[in-house]
Amino acid sequence: MAKYIFVTGGVTSSLGKGIIAASLAKLLQARGLKVTIQKFDPYINVDPGTMNPYEHGECYVTEDGAETDLDLGHYERFLNIFTSQANNVTTGRIYQTVINKEREGAYLGKTVQVIPHITDEIKRRMLHLGQDNKYDIVITEIGGTIGDIESLPFVEAMRQLQWELPQEDTVVVHLTLIPYLKAAKELKTKPTQHSVKMLSQEGVNPDIIVCRTEKQLTPELKRKIALFCNVRQEAVIEAMDASTIYEVPLLMMREKLDLICMKKMNITDHKEPELTRWKEFLDKLKYPKSKVTIGLIGKYIELQDAYKSILESFIHAGAVNECQVQVVNVHSEFITDSNVQEKLSSLDGLLVAPGFGHRGVEGKIISVKYARENNLPFFGICLGMQMAVIEFARNVLGMQDAHSTEMDPDTSNPVIDLMEEQKKVTAKGGTMRLGAYPCEIKPGSLAEKIYHVSSITERHRHRWEFNNQYLEQYRQAGMIASGKNPGSDLVEIVELTGHPFFIGVQYHPELKSTVENPQPIFVHFIKAAKEYSEKMATKQRPAVQGEIA
Ligand code: GLN
Repeated sequence: MAKYIFVTGGVTSSLGKGIIAASLAKLLQARGLKVTIQKFDPYINVDPGTMNPYEHGECYVTEDGAETDLDLGHYERFLNIFTSQANNVTTGRIYQTVINKEREGAYLGKTVQVIPHITDEIKRRMLHLGQDNKYDIVITEIGGTIGDIESLPFVEAMRQLQWELPQEDTVVVHLTLIPYLKAAKELKTKPTQHSVKMLSQEGVNPDIIVCRTEKQLTPELKRKIALFCNVRQEAVIEAMDASTIYEVPLLMMREKLDLICMKKMNITDHKEPELTRWKEFLDKLKYPKSKVTIGLIGKYIELQDAYKSILESFIHAGAVNECQVQVVNVHSEFITDSNVQEKLSSLDGLLVAPGFGHRGVEGKIISVKYARENNLPFFGICLGMQMAVIEFARNVLGMQDAHSTEMDPDTSNPVIDLMEEQKKVTAKGGTMRLGAYPCEIKPGSLAEKIYHVSSITERHRHRWEFNNQYLEQYRQAGMIASGKNPGSDLVEIVELTGHPFFIGVQYHPELKSTVENPQPIFVHFIKAAKEYSEKMATKQRPAVQGEIA
Protein backbone atom coordinates (compact mmCIF):
# COMPACT_ATOMS: atom_id res chain seq x y z
CA MET A 1 0.00 0.00 0.00
CA ALA A 2 1.18 3.49 -0.85
CA LYS A 3 1.42 6.32 1.66
CA TYR A 4 -0.17 9.68 1.02
CA ILE A 5 1.21 13.18 1.45
CA PHE A 6 -1.17 16.13 1.10
CA VAL A 7 0.05 19.63 0.34
CA THR A 8 -2.27 22.53 1.13
CA GLY A 9 -1.72 26.27 0.85
CA GLY A 10 -2.65 29.13 3.14
CA VAL A 11 -2.66 32.95 3.34
CA THR A 12 -2.40 33.63 -0.39
CA SER A 13 -2.19 31.93 -3.74
CA SER A 14 0.99 31.86 -5.87
CA LEU A 15 3.20 30.66 -3.02
CA GLY A 16 4.66 27.91 -5.17
CA LYS A 17 2.82 24.91 -3.77
CA GLY A 18 3.51 23.01 -6.97
CA ILE A 19 7.25 23.62 -6.66
CA ILE A 20 7.32 22.61 -2.99
CA ALA A 21 5.33 19.45 -3.77
CA ALA A 22 7.58 18.64 -6.74
CA SER A 23 10.72 19.30 -4.67
CA LEU A 24 9.57 17.02 -1.88
CA ALA A 25 8.72 14.37 -4.48
CA LYS A 26 12.18 14.78 -6.04
CA LEU A 27 13.91 14.24 -2.69
CA LEU A 28 11.86 11.15 -1.86
CA GLN A 29 12.51 9.80 -5.36
CA ALA A 30 16.23 10.51 -4.95
CA ARG A 31 16.14 8.42 -1.78
CA GLY A 32 14.92 5.45 -3.78
CA LEU A 33 11.16 5.70 -3.27
CA LYS A 34 8.67 5.43 -6.13
CA VAL A 35 6.74 8.68 -6.12
CA THR A 36 4.00 10.35 -8.13
CA ILE A 37 2.14 13.63 -7.68
CA GLN A 38 -1.39 14.65 -8.47
CA LYS A 39 -3.22 17.96 -8.41
CA PHE A 40 -6.80 18.49 -7.25
CA ASP A 41 -8.23 21.74 -8.55
CA PRO A 42 -11.35 23.28 -7.02
CA TYR A 43 -12.83 24.89 -10.15
CA ILE A 44 -15.91 23.62 -11.98
CA ASN A 45 -14.38 23.30 -15.46
CA VAL A 46 -13.91 19.60 -16.17
CA ASP A 47 -10.35 20.47 -17.18
CA PRO A 48 -8.42 23.70 -17.89
CA GLY A 49 -8.51 23.07 -21.66
CA THR A 50 -11.35 25.51 -22.23
CA MET A 51 -9.74 28.33 -20.24
CA ASN A 52 -7.90 31.29 -21.70
CA PRO A 53 -4.15 31.33 -20.93
CA TYR A 54 -4.67 34.75 -19.28
CA GLU A 55 -7.05 33.02 -16.90
CA HIS A 56 -5.09 29.92 -16.05
CA GLY A 57 -1.66 30.03 -17.69
CA GLU A 58 -0.50 27.29 -20.00
CA CYS A 59 -2.60 24.20 -20.51
CA TYR A 60 -0.26 21.25 -20.03
CA VAL A 61 -0.92 18.11 -22.09
CA THR A 62 0.06 14.63 -20.91
CA GLU A 63 1.05 11.59 -22.99
CA ASP A 64 -2.49 10.21 -22.79
CA GLY A 65 -3.92 13.47 -24.09
CA ALA A 66 -5.29 15.01 -20.89
CA GLU A 67 -5.47 18.81 -20.83
CA THR A 68 -4.20 19.64 -17.37
CA ASP A 69 -2.93 22.22 -14.92
CA LEU A 70 0.55 23.57 -15.55
CA ASP A 71 1.78 22.19 -12.22
CA LEU A 72 1.82 18.75 -13.87
CA GLY A 73 4.55 20.17 -16.07
CA HIS A 74 6.63 20.90 -12.97
CA TYR A 75 6.01 17.39 -11.69
CA GLU A 76 7.25 15.85 -14.93
CA ARG A 77 10.23 18.20 -15.25
CA PHE A 78 11.35 17.51 -11.68
CA LEU A 79 10.64 13.79 -11.49
CA ASN A 80 11.35 12.79 -15.07
CA ILE A 81 8.19 10.66 -15.10
CA PHE A 82 5.02 10.80 -17.18
CA THR A 83 1.80 11.90 -15.55
CA SER A 84 -1.66 11.14 -16.93
CA GLN A 85 -5.33 12.06 -16.81
CA ALA A 86 -5.50 10.52 -13.35
CA ASN A 87 -2.98 13.05 -12.00
CA ASN A 88 -5.27 16.05 -12.40
CA VAL A 89 -8.76 16.08 -10.94
CA THR A 90 -11.14 19.04 -10.82
CA THR A 91 -14.37 19.69 -8.97
CA GLY A 92 -16.05 19.60 -12.39
CA ARG A 93 -14.78 16.10 -13.07
CA ILE A 94 -15.87 14.87 -9.62
CA TYR A 95 -19.40 16.25 -10.01
CA GLN A 96 -19.61 14.96 -13.58
CA THR A 97 -18.83 11.43 -12.37
CA VAL A 98 -21.28 11.58 -9.48
CA ILE A 99 -24.08 13.08 -11.58
CA ASN A 100 -23.56 10.50 -14.33
CA LYS A 101 -23.73 7.74 -11.74
CA GLU A 102 -26.90 9.24 -10.28
CA ARG A 103 -28.51 9.23 -13.74
CA GLU A 104 -27.49 5.60 -14.24
CA GLY A 105 -29.27 4.78 -11.00
CA ALA A 106 -26.20 3.94 -8.94
CA TYR A 107 -27.66 5.71 -5.89
CA LEU A 108 -31.30 4.69 -6.37
CA GLY A 109 -33.45 5.62 -3.41
CA LYS A 110 -30.82 7.93 -1.89
CA THR A 111 -30.41 11.69 -1.66
CA VAL A 112 -27.10 12.47 -3.37
CA GLN A 113 -25.09 14.85 -1.18
CA VAL A 114 -21.69 16.55 -0.88
CA ILE A 115 -20.98 14.31 2.11
CA PRO A 116 -20.70 11.37 1.53
CA HIS A 117 -21.14 11.12 -2.27
CA ILE A 118 -18.89 13.93 -3.49
CA THR A 119 -16.29 13.33 -0.77
CA ASP A 120 -16.33 9.57 -1.46
CA GLU A 121 -15.59 10.24 -5.13
CA ILE A 122 -12.77 12.63 -4.14
CA LYS A 123 -11.32 10.02 -1.77
CA ARG A 124 -11.55 7.32 -4.43
CA ARG A 125 -9.52 9.49 -6.79
CA MET A 126 -7.07 10.59 -4.08
CA LEU A 127 -6.29 6.93 -3.37
CA HIS A 128 -6.47 5.70 -6.97
CA LEU A 129 -2.81 6.05 -8.04
CA GLY A 130 -1.61 4.31 -4.88
CA GLN A 131 -3.71 1.18 -5.42
CA ASP A 132 -1.66 -1.09 -7.65
CA ASN A 133 1.76 -1.17 -5.96
CA LYS A 134 3.25 1.12 -8.59
CA TYR A 135 4.08 3.82 -6.07
CA ASP A 136 5.35 4.00 -2.50
CA ILE A 137 4.20 7.59 -2.11
CA VAL A 138 1.41 9.58 -3.72
CA ILE A 139 1.61 13.32 -3.16
CA THR A 140 -1.64 15.26 -3.59
CA GLU A 141 -1.48 18.99 -4.08
CA ILE A 142 -4.76 20.67 -3.24
CA GLY A 143 -5.33 23.76 -5.36
CA GLY A 144 -6.65 27.04 -3.96
CA THR A 145 -6.14 28.52 -0.53
CA ILE A 146 -7.42 27.18 2.79
CA GLY A 147 -10.59 29.10 3.65
CA ASP A 148 -11.92 29.14 0.09
CA ILE A 149 -15.48 27.84 -0.05
CA GLU A 150 -14.78 25.81 -3.17
CA SER A 151 -11.91 23.73 -1.77
CA LEU A 152 -13.90 22.62 1.31
CA PRO A 153 -14.93 19.18 -0.05
CA PHE A 154 -11.28 18.40 -0.88
CA VAL A 155 -10.16 19.33 2.63
CA GLU A 156 -13.01 17.30 4.10
CA ALA A 157 -12.00 14.25 2.02
CA MET A 158 -8.41 14.67 3.21
CA ARG A 159 -9.65 14.92 6.82
CA GLN A 160 -11.58 11.68 6.48
CA LEU A 161 -8.59 9.90 4.96
CA GLN A 162 -6.40 11.05 7.85
CA TRP A 163 -8.67 9.02 10.13
CA GLU A 164 -9.45 6.13 7.84
CA LEU A 165 -5.86 5.30 6.91
CA PRO A 166 -3.26 4.15 9.45
CA GLN A 167 -1.67 7.14 11.17
CA GLU A 168 1.71 6.56 9.55
CA ASP A 169 0.19 6.50 6.06
CA THR A 170 -0.67 10.19 5.78
CA VAL A 171 1.22 13.45 6.12
CA VAL A 172 -0.26 16.93 5.76
CA VAL A 173 2.12 19.68 4.69
CA HIS A 174 0.75 23.22 4.90
CA LEU A 175 2.51 25.95 2.93
CA THR A 176 2.08 29.50 4.20
CA LEU A 177 3.59 32.94 3.89
CA ILE A 178 5.58 34.75 6.56
CA PRO A 179 5.47 38.34 5.30
CA TYR A 180 8.23 40.81 6.09
CA LEU A 181 6.96 44.21 7.12
CA LYS A 182 9.53 46.74 6.05
CA ALA A 183 8.29 49.52 8.33
CA ALA A 184 8.43 47.26 11.40
CA LYS A 185 11.58 45.46 10.12
CA GLU A 186 9.91 42.24 11.21
CA LEU A 187 8.69 38.91 9.90
CA LYS A 188 5.06 38.37 10.86
CA THR A 189 3.58 35.01 11.87
CA LYS A 190 -0.04 36.07 12.41
CA PRO A 191 -1.30 35.22 8.88
CA THR A 192 0.16 31.72 9.33
CA GLN A 193 -1.47 31.34 12.73
CA HIS A 194 -4.83 32.29 11.21
CA SER A 195 -4.41 30.00 8.26
CA VAL A 196 -3.54 27.00 10.44
CA LYS A 197 -6.47 27.87 12.71
CA MET A 198 -8.76 27.86 9.70
CA LEU A 199 -7.40 24.48 8.61
CA SER A 200 -7.99 23.10 12.14
CA GLN A 201 -11.55 24.41 12.04
CA GLU A 202 -11.98 22.29 8.94
CA GLY A 203 -10.74 19.38 11.04
CA VAL A 204 -7.19 18.99 9.79
CA ASN A 205 -4.04 19.49 11.83
CA PRO A 206 -0.97 19.89 9.63
CA ASP A 207 2.08 17.78 10.44
CA ILE A 208 4.52 20.15 8.79
CA ILE A 209 4.40 23.87 8.10
CA VAL A 210 6.48 25.18 5.23
CA CYS A 211 6.99 28.93 5.49
CA ARG A 212 7.64 30.97 2.35
CA THR A 213 9.78 33.90 3.40
CA GLU A 214 12.19 36.43 1.97
CA LYS A 215 14.22 36.58 5.21
CA GLN A 216 15.65 33.79 7.33
CA LEU A 217 13.45 32.50 10.15
CA THR A 218 15.14 32.69 13.54
CA PRO A 219 14.85 29.68 15.91
CA GLU A 220 12.75 31.94 18.10
CA LEU A 221 10.30 32.55 15.28
CA LYS A 222 10.15 28.86 14.42
CA ARG A 223 9.44 28.11 18.07
CA LYS A 224 6.60 30.63 18.04
CA ILE A 225 5.04 29.15 14.92
CA ALA A 226 5.35 25.64 16.39
CA LEU A 227 3.72 26.76 19.61
CA PHE A 228 0.75 28.46 17.98
CA CYS A 229 0.24 25.91 15.25
CA ASN A 230 0.48 22.61 17.16
CA VAL A 231 3.51 21.23 15.37
CA ARG A 232 7.00 20.32 16.54
CA GLN A 233 9.64 22.99 16.05
CA GLU A 234 11.58 20.72 13.68
CA ALA A 235 8.46 20.54 11.52
CA VAL A 236 8.53 24.28 10.85
CA ILE A 237 10.38 24.49 7.56
CA GLU A 238 11.86 27.63 6.10
CA ALA A 239 11.37 28.07 2.35
CA MET A 240 13.45 31.08 1.36
CA ASP A 241 12.96 32.71 -2.04
CA ALA A 242 15.36 30.95 -4.42
CA SER A 243 17.13 32.27 -7.52
CA THR A 244 15.75 29.36 -9.55
CA ILE A 245 12.98 26.84 -8.86
CA TYR A 246 15.51 24.06 -9.50
CA GLU A 247 17.32 25.00 -6.31
CA VAL A 248 14.27 24.40 -4.13
CA PRO A 249 14.81 20.61 -3.72
CA LEU A 250 18.25 21.32 -2.28
CA LEU A 251 16.88 24.02 0.03
CA MET A 252 14.21 21.58 1.22
CA MET A 253 16.83 18.91 1.76
CA ARG A 254 18.82 21.30 3.96
CA GLU A 255 15.66 21.87 5.98
CA LYS A 256 15.09 18.07 6.16
CA LEU A 257 11.56 18.26 4.74
CA ASP A 258 11.95 14.76 3.27
CA LEU A 259 13.29 13.25 6.48
CA ILE A 260 10.54 14.74 8.60
CA CYS A 261 7.92 13.34 6.23
CA MET A 262 9.61 9.94 6.28
CA LYS A 263 9.75 9.95 10.06
CA LYS A 264 5.99 10.58 10.25
CA MET A 265 5.44 7.78 7.71
CA ASN A 266 7.70 5.44 9.63
CA ILE A 267 9.93 4.83 6.60
CA THR A 268 13.32 3.86 7.92
CA ASP A 269 15.02 1.95 5.12
CA HIS A 270 16.14 4.56 2.66
CA LYS A 271 19.38 5.54 0.98
CA GLU A 272 21.09 8.91 0.86
CA PRO A 273 19.57 11.07 -1.88
CA GLU A 274 21.11 10.52 -5.31
CA LEU A 275 21.13 14.00 -6.84
CA THR A 276 24.37 13.99 -8.84
CA ARG A 277 22.77 14.78 -12.19
CA TRP A 278 20.51 17.37 -10.64
CA LYS A 279 23.49 19.14 -9.07
CA GLU A 280 25.48 18.99 -12.30
CA PHE A 281 22.56 20.63 -14.08
CA LEU A 282 22.35 23.33 -11.41
CA ASP A 283 26.08 24.06 -11.67
CA LYS A 284 25.84 24.50 -15.41
CA LEU A 285 22.76 26.65 -15.01
CA LYS A 286 24.40 28.91 -12.45
CA TYR A 287 27.78 29.31 -14.14
CA PRO A 288 27.14 29.69 -17.88
CA LYS A 289 30.05 30.33 -20.24
CA SER A 290 28.12 32.23 -22.90
CA LYS A 291 24.83 33.99 -23.44
CA VAL A 292 22.21 34.16 -26.19
CA THR A 293 19.10 36.25 -26.58
CA ILE A 294 16.01 34.50 -27.90
CA GLY A 295 12.87 36.33 -28.97
CA LEU A 296 9.64 34.67 -27.89
CA ILE A 297 7.01 35.93 -30.32
CA GLY A 298 3.58 35.48 -28.83
CA LYS A 299 0.35 37.20 -27.97
CA TYR A 300 0.04 36.16 -24.33
CA ILE A 301 3.39 37.57 -23.28
CA GLU A 302 1.97 39.72 -20.48
CA LEU A 303 1.53 36.52 -18.50
CA GLN A 304 4.68 34.48 -17.87
CA ASP A 305 2.70 31.34 -17.08
CA ALA A 306 1.18 31.24 -20.57
CA TYR A 307 4.44 29.86 -22.03
CA LYS A 308 5.70 28.08 -18.90
CA SER A 309 6.95 24.87 -20.51
CA ILE A 310 8.73 26.77 -23.29
CA LEU A 311 10.58 28.94 -20.77
CA GLU A 312 11.55 25.90 -18.70
CA SER A 313 12.73 24.04 -21.82
CA PHE A 314 15.05 26.97 -22.56
CA ILE A 315 16.48 26.66 -19.04
CA HIS A 316 17.19 22.94 -19.58
CA ALA A 317 18.63 23.50 -23.06
CA GLY A 318 20.72 26.45 -21.85
CA ALA A 319 22.32 24.33 -19.13
CA VAL A 320 23.28 21.60 -21.63
CA ASN A 321 24.97 24.26 -23.77
CA GLU A 322 26.46 25.98 -20.69
CA CYS A 323 24.80 29.07 -22.04
CA GLN A 324 22.56 31.61 -20.39
CA VAL A 325 19.36 31.93 -22.39
CA GLN A 326 17.85 35.37 -22.09
CA VAL A 327 14.31 35.18 -23.38
CA VAL A 328 12.83 38.43 -24.62
CA ASN A 329 9.07 38.65 -24.99
CA VAL A 330 8.03 40.30 -28.21
CA HIS A 331 4.34 41.01 -28.59
CA SER A 332 3.29 39.72 -32.00
CA GLU A 333 0.46 42.25 -32.29
CA PHE A 334 2.92 45.12 -32.49
CA ILE A 335 5.32 43.76 -35.10
CA THR A 336 4.99 45.44 -38.49
CA ASP A 337 6.99 45.45 -41.73
CA SER A 338 8.47 48.79 -40.76
CA ASN A 339 9.63 47.93 -37.22
CA VAL A 340 10.59 44.26 -37.57
CA GLN A 341 14.27 44.99 -38.22
CA GLU A 342 14.49 47.23 -35.18
CA LYS A 343 12.64 44.74 -32.95
CA LEU A 344 14.39 41.54 -34.00
CA SER A 345 17.91 42.38 -35.10
CA SER A 346 19.37 42.12 -31.59
CA LEU A 347 18.20 38.50 -31.29
CA ASP A 348 20.20 35.29 -31.75
CA GLY A 349 17.15 33.12 -32.32
CA LEU A 350 13.43 33.39 -32.82
CA LEU A 351 10.73 31.19 -31.36
CA VAL A 352 7.22 31.72 -32.68
CA ALA A 353 4.80 30.49 -30.05
CA PRO A 354 1.67 28.32 -30.18
CA GLY A 355 -1.73 29.97 -30.07
CA PHE A 356 -5.30 30.16 -31.28
CA GLY A 357 -7.31 32.69 -33.26
CA HIS A 358 -6.29 35.51 -35.55
CA ARG A 359 -5.02 38.13 -33.07
CA GLY A 360 -1.32 38.77 -33.62
CA VAL A 361 -0.81 36.33 -36.51
CA GLU A 362 0.33 38.92 -39.07
CA GLY A 363 3.16 39.96 -36.69
CA LYS A 364 4.16 36.33 -36.39
CA ILE A 365 4.27 35.94 -40.18
CA ILE A 366 6.41 39.08 -40.52
CA SER A 367 8.86 37.72 -37.90
CA VAL A 368 9.16 34.38 -39.70
CA LYS A 369 10.01 36.23 -42.91
CA TYR A 370 12.72 38.15 -41.08
CA ALA A 371 14.25 34.93 -39.68
CA ARG A 372 14.08 33.17 -43.05
CA GLU A 373 15.69 36.01 -44.98
CA ASN A 374 18.37 36.80 -42.41
CA ASN A 375 19.51 33.26 -41.59
CA LEU A 376 18.39 33.84 -38.00
CA PRO A 377 17.78 30.50 -36.20
CA PHE A 378 14.03 29.87 -36.23
CA PHE A 379 11.87 27.50 -34.23
CA GLY A 380 8.09 27.46 -34.69
CA ILE A 381 5.81 25.51 -32.39
CA CYS A 382 2.29 24.48 -33.47
CA LEU A 383 0.72 27.79 -34.57
CA GLY A 384 4.33 29.00 -34.98
CA MET A 385 4.96 26.20 -37.49
CA GLN A 386 1.71 27.00 -39.29
CA MET A 387 2.80 30.65 -39.58
CA ALA A 388 6.08 29.54 -41.18
CA VAL A 389 4.09 27.55 -43.74
CA ILE A 390 1.86 30.54 -44.53
CA GLU A 391 4.83 32.92 -44.78
CA PHE A 392 6.53 30.62 -47.26
CA ALA A 393 3.40 30.39 -49.41
CA ARG A 394 2.93 34.13 -49.49
CA ASN A 395 6.50 35.30 -49.96
CA VAL A 396 8.21 32.43 -51.78
CA LEU A 397 5.46 30.56 -53.62
CA GLY A 398 3.70 33.81 -54.56
CA MET A 399 0.29 32.95 -53.09
CA GLN A 400 -0.56 36.38 -51.76
CA ASP A 401 -3.70 35.36 -49.90
CA ALA A 402 -2.45 32.04 -48.48
CA HIS A 403 -3.74 31.49 -44.97
CA SER A 404 -5.03 29.02 -42.44
CA THR A 405 -8.77 28.42 -42.60
CA GLU A 406 -8.73 29.05 -38.84
CA MET A 407 -8.17 32.75 -39.57
CA ASP A 408 -9.58 33.06 -43.08
CA PRO A 409 -12.14 30.36 -43.95
CA ASP A 410 -12.50 31.74 -47.49
CA THR A 411 -8.85 31.89 -48.54
CA SER A 412 -8.25 30.56 -52.04
CA ASN A 413 -4.99 28.96 -50.80
CA PRO A 414 -5.74 27.11 -47.56
CA VAL A 415 -2.17 25.91 -46.95
CA ILE A 416 -3.19 25.16 -43.36
CA ASP A 417 -6.56 23.46 -43.16
CA LEU A 418 -8.83 21.92 -40.57
CA MET A 419 -8.08 18.20 -40.09
CA GLU A 420 -10.68 15.94 -41.67
CA GLU A 421 -11.50 14.30 -38.33
CA GLN A 422 -12.16 17.75 -36.83
CA LYS A 423 -14.76 18.78 -39.39
CA LYS A 424 -17.63 17.16 -37.56
CA VAL A 425 -16.49 18.22 -34.09
CA THR A 426 -18.61 20.91 -32.42
CA ALA A 427 -17.93 20.46 -28.70
CA LYS A 428 -14.92 22.36 -27.41
CA GLY A 429 -13.79 20.42 -24.33
CA GLY A 430 -11.12 17.76 -24.91
CA THR A 431 -11.85 17.46 -28.63
CA MET A 432 -8.57 18.62 -30.22
CA ARG A 433 -5.95 16.18 -31.51
CA LEU A 434 -4.39 15.63 -28.10
CA GLY A 435 -1.48 13.74 -26.60
CA ALA A 436 1.30 11.56 -27.97
CA TYR A 437 1.41 10.52 -31.64
CA PRO A 438 4.27 8.94 -33.56
CA CYS A 439 6.30 10.75 -36.20
CA GLU A 440 8.67 9.26 -38.78
CA ILE A 441 11.74 11.35 -39.53
CA LYS A 442 13.22 11.84 -42.99
CA PRO A 443 16.79 10.56 -43.35
CA GLY A 444 19.38 13.26 -43.87
CA SER A 445 17.16 16.05 -42.51
CA LEU A 446 17.90 18.58 -39.77
CA ALA A 447 15.25 16.76 -37.71
CA GLU A 448 17.29 13.56 -37.96
CA LYS A 449 20.44 15.41 -36.94
CA ILE A 450 18.56 16.68 -33.91
CA TYR A 451 16.84 13.48 -32.78
CA HIS A 452 19.37 10.87 -34.01
CA VAL A 453 16.53 8.38 -34.54
CA SER A 454 14.08 7.64 -37.33
CA SER A 455 10.93 7.51 -35.22
CA ILE A 456 9.78 9.66 -32.31
CA THR A 457 6.60 10.42 -30.37
CA GLU A 458 5.65 13.91 -29.26
CA ARG A 459 2.54 15.50 -27.73
CA HIS A 460 -0.09 17.48 -29.58
CA ARG A 461 -2.84 20.01 -29.08
CA HIS A 462 -4.30 21.31 -32.33
CA ARG A 463 -7.13 21.12 -34.88
CA TRP A 464 -5.45 22.43 -38.04
CA GLU A 465 -2.73 20.83 -40.14
CA PHE A 466 -0.47 21.34 -43.15
CA ASN A 467 -2.53 20.88 -46.34
CA ASN A 468 -0.75 18.03 -48.16
CA GLN A 469 -2.05 19.17 -51.55
CA TYR A 470 0.67 21.81 -51.52
CA LEU A 471 3.47 19.52 -50.36
CA GLU A 472 5.19 19.10 -53.70
CA GLN A 473 5.19 22.83 -54.44
CA TYR A 474 6.84 23.48 -51.08
CA ARG A 475 9.42 20.74 -51.60
CA GLN A 476 10.49 22.13 -54.95
CA ALA A 477 10.97 25.59 -53.47
CA GLY A 478 13.01 24.39 -50.47
CA MET A 479 10.60 23.79 -47.59
CA ILE A 480 10.37 20.07 -46.84
CA ALA A 481 8.25 17.92 -44.57
CA SER A 482 10.95 16.16 -42.57
CA GLY A 483 8.56 14.50 -40.14
CA LYS A 484 5.21 12.87 -40.80
CA ASN A 485 2.72 10.77 -38.91
CA PRO A 486 3.18 7.25 -40.31
CA GLY A 487 -0.53 6.43 -40.36
CA SER A 488 -2.22 9.60 -41.54
CA ASP A 489 0.65 11.34 -43.38
CA LEU A 490 -0.01 14.46 -41.30
CA VAL A 491 2.98 16.79 -41.54
CA GLU A 492 4.64 17.01 -38.13
CA ILE A 493 7.90 18.81 -38.99
CA VAL A 494 8.83 21.30 -41.69
CA GLU A 495 12.28 22.70 -42.34
CA LEU A 496 14.04 24.92 -44.86
CA THR A 497 16.81 23.24 -46.79
CA GLY A 498 19.00 26.28 -47.48
CA HIS A 499 18.86 27.82 -43.99
CA PRO A 500 21.30 27.15 -41.10
CA PHE A 501 18.49 26.37 -38.63
CA PHE A 502 14.84 26.72 -39.54
CA ILE A 503 12.39 24.21 -38.10
CA GLY A 504 8.67 24.22 -37.39
CA VAL A 505 6.82 21.47 -35.55
CA GLN A 506 3.11 20.78 -35.37
CA TYR A 507 3.55 19.16 -31.94
CA HIS A 508 4.60 20.64 -28.59
CA PRO A 509 8.17 19.52 -27.85
CA GLU A 510 8.28 21.80 -24.80
CA LEU A 511 5.97 19.39 -22.94
CA LYS A 512 8.58 16.66 -22.78
CA SER A 513 11.67 18.60 -21.70
CA THR A 514 12.91 17.65 -18.23
CA VAL A 515 16.02 18.44 -16.19
CA GLU A 516 17.37 14.98 -16.88
CA ASN A 517 16.11 14.76 -20.48
CA PRO A 518 16.32 18.19 -22.10
CA GLN A 519 14.31 18.33 -25.33
CA PRO A 520 16.67 17.91 -28.33
CA ILE A 521 15.17 20.62 -30.62
CA PHE A 522 15.58 23.19 -27.86
CA VAL A 523 19.15 21.99 -27.24
CA HIS A 524 20.08 22.30 -30.93
CA PHE A 525 18.23 25.59 -31.31
CA ILE A 526 20.32 27.13 -28.52
CA LYS A 527 23.45 25.67 -30.11
CA ALA A 528 22.49 27.31 -33.42
CA ALA A 529 21.76 30.59 -31.61
CA LYS A 530 25.22 30.44 -30.01
CA GLU A 531 26.81 29.99 -33.42
CA TYR A 532 24.75 32.86 -34.83
CA SER A 533 25.73 35.10 -31.93
CA GLU A 534 29.44 34.32 -32.47
CA LYS A 535 29.08 35.10 -36.16
CA MET A 536 27.43 38.42 -35.35
CA ALA A 537 29.95 39.34 -32.64
CA THR A 538 31.80 41.80 -34.86
CA LYS A 539 28.63 43.47 -36.11
CA GLN A 540 26.99 46.50 -34.56
CA ARG A 541 23.61 45.44 -33.20
CA PRO A 542 20.94 47.51 -31.44
CA ALA A 543 20.03 47.04 -27.79
CA VAL A 544 17.47 44.34 -27.00
CA GLN A 545 13.87 45.50 -27.41
CA GLY A 546 11.01 43.97 -25.48
CA GLU A 547 10.57 42.65 -21.99
CA ILE A 548 13.02 40.13 -20.55
CA ALA A 549 11.21 37.03 -19.35
N1 GLN B 1 -4.67 27.07 -33.55
C1 GLN B 1 -3.87 26.09 -34.16
C2 GLN B 1 -4.58 24.75 -34.33
O1 GLN B 1 -5.52 24.47 -33.64
C3 GLN B 1 -2.56 25.88 -33.40
C4 GLN B 1 -2.76 25.32 -32.03
C5 GLN B 1 -1.58 25.50 -31.11
O2 GLN B 1 -0.70 26.31 -31.37
N2 GLN B 1 -1.56 24.78 -30.01
O3 GLN B 1 -4.19 23.96 -35.15
